[in-house]
Amino acid sequence: MSHKMIVICAPSGAGKSTLLTRLKKDHPELVWSVSCTTRPIRKGEDHGKDYFFIKKESFEKQIADQEFVEWAQVHSNYYGTSKRFVNEGIEKNWKMLFDLDVQGVDSMKKIYGEGAVVIFIEPPSIEELEKRLRSRGTDIEEVILERVKNARRELLRKNDFDHVVLNDDVERAYKELKALVERILA
Ligand code: ADP
Ligand code: 5GP
Repeated sequence: MSHKMIVICAPSGAGKSTLLTRLKKDHPELVWSVSCTTRPIRKGEDHGKDYFFIKKESFEKQIADQEFVEWAQVHSNYYGTSKRFVNEGIEKNWKMLFDLDVQGVDSMKKIYGEGAVVIFIEPPSIEELEKRLRSRGTDIEEVILERVKNARRELLRKNDFDHVVLNDDVERAYKELKALVERILA
């Protein structure tokens, strides 16, 4: 048995967190890569579980110390994946699960090639994505507009990923995602 790396990528508001919460519950053997970020913590999130929420200065120090396997600036904040985590997962044959933006996906593909399987979660439309961001109620207008703008750009890349799951109806989409992940893990 060897390690697995499953990378989930989605424009903000596509419903990735909703789907991943269920996937993690149904597949506790998946080891979640807790990224570091400089963005403010949201209601309901936990430090050390969802992200390590750190200051810009300490993030920049970790970049300088080469502690990230990849890092990127997304929506004006830093996000990065721990090199120590990935190396430990490879050594211990973990089934690892990542949530990365398209820059992170490109980095992982460059390093691990087919060893990292990328699943893109696609929203039904930009309009629906914007509606979901507003109904989530976690971001101010300026942030929502920036996320919508980034989403338009990310959607242009959807054909570059290994798999695409359309999040139209959440039950249908989750069933498809779960079956796909189970195929990858088999
Ligand atoms: P992401 O993690 O991709 O930014 P979320 O999972 O936070 O997105 O979803 C954004 C909002 O859309 C949330 O309020 C969520 O409940 C809602 N949502 C998720 N999937 C669907 C869906 N298939 N249909 C309608 N609303 C959805
Ligand atoms: P959010 O702030 O909504 O949690 O995440 C914003 C974006 O950052 C999402 O597209 C998410 O996939 C991405 N992201 C989260 N962690 C990382 C990471 O470690 N590296 C990269 N490159 N992107 C990340």
